[in-house]
Amino acid sequence: MKPLRLSRLLAVPALLLAACAGSSSQTPPPQPRQYPQQYPQQYPQQYPQQYPQQYPQQPYPAPQPQPQPQPQPQPQPAPQRPLLLPLVGPVAWQNEVRSVLAELIASLSPTNAARVRGIPLVFDPNPNEVNAFAGCDEKGAPYLAGTEGLLEAVDAIAQTKATDELYGTKTYEQYASVVIPQLVKSDKASPALPPGIIPPQALADPRRLSRAHEIYDDIVAFTFGHELGHHYLGHTGCANGQAMTGGPSPAGLANLVTNILPGLNQPNEVAADGAGCVNVLDTGRARMGMGFRWTEAGAFALLDYFARMERAAGVSPLNPIGFLRSHPNPAFRIPIVQAVARTWWMQHPG
Ligand SMILES: [Zn+2]
Repeated sequence: MKPLRLSRLLAVPALLLAACAGSSSQTPPPQPRQYPQQYPQQYPQQYPQQYPQQYPQQPYPAPQPQPQPQPQPQPQPAPQRPLLLPLVGPVAWQNEVRSVLAELIASLSPTNAARVRGIPLVFDPNPNEVNAFAGCDEKGAPYLAGTEGLLEAVDAIAQTKATDELYGTKTYEQYASVVIPQLVKSDKASPALPPGIIPPQALADPRRLSRAHEIYDDIVAFTFGHELGHHYLGHTGCANGQAMTGGPSPAGLANLVTNILPGLNQPNEVAADGAGCVNVLDTGRARMGMGFRWTEAGAFALLDYFARMERAAGVSPLNPIGFLRSHPNPAFRIPIVQAVARTWWMQHPG
């Protein structure tokens, strides 16, 4: 067993699937799309309309009344989302995760929030690990942990997907096809976005940087919402609302990340996925007035990434990648998140 390799995938919350299997149309030089028009329409409308319509009808084979043609979405008087500042570098990424976590906790029930409020979030500076987890330190105090490699990966996903949305490019596919095969082969490979993937003319586009910021938030919300769930659901056994310590030292954390492999506990993983997804959606609803609304899309983006890693690693039982041993297969987790999200949207129309 190779702990480094194992831990690379190990505790990453089960999230990812992405509906971006690439079609390979020829790509003319990327041109910026009409951002202000297209983009506020696209996002807010996508989920609220699609879900309540689509899902309730599926179980009924009976002929459906023809759906009334929906009035074409008119340019909403909807508030334009404010442009967000770029998130650049580990300090900004870490601070953003803390901010997202605070919002997630604020949306929990009072009981659950009391269990996890104040839990320290610590980062392993290892840039090559892609990892996040919930644990108890040597004193039995709870902590949440992420690696710098995880934040590098989320940044790369966010930057490429934002570029693809605005410019019609396929930079996420390019990034994934270049970086993921290396990640599963070498402990030294970095998940960071390599130079040259983002078209030069898009690099400094403030709309792209703002959109990447939104996607980053959406992905880390699910990632750490899942880990938070392990604590308040009692899976770790050490989050009881007690006084918090500062969490493990970086050195101690590196040791934990490298050497502690949580056993795969499928029911707990399913529960954490469900709780994390609901927490993200509740928080998204609570922050509707703030512009961008978090949804399960971040979960699917993350799960897609890990599904790609798993495919690249192969399915041999001798494969050193430990993700499957520590978390359910992303292909298993994606339908869970879909089902939880579908139920949530039905319960929260509009
Ligand atoms: Zn988990």
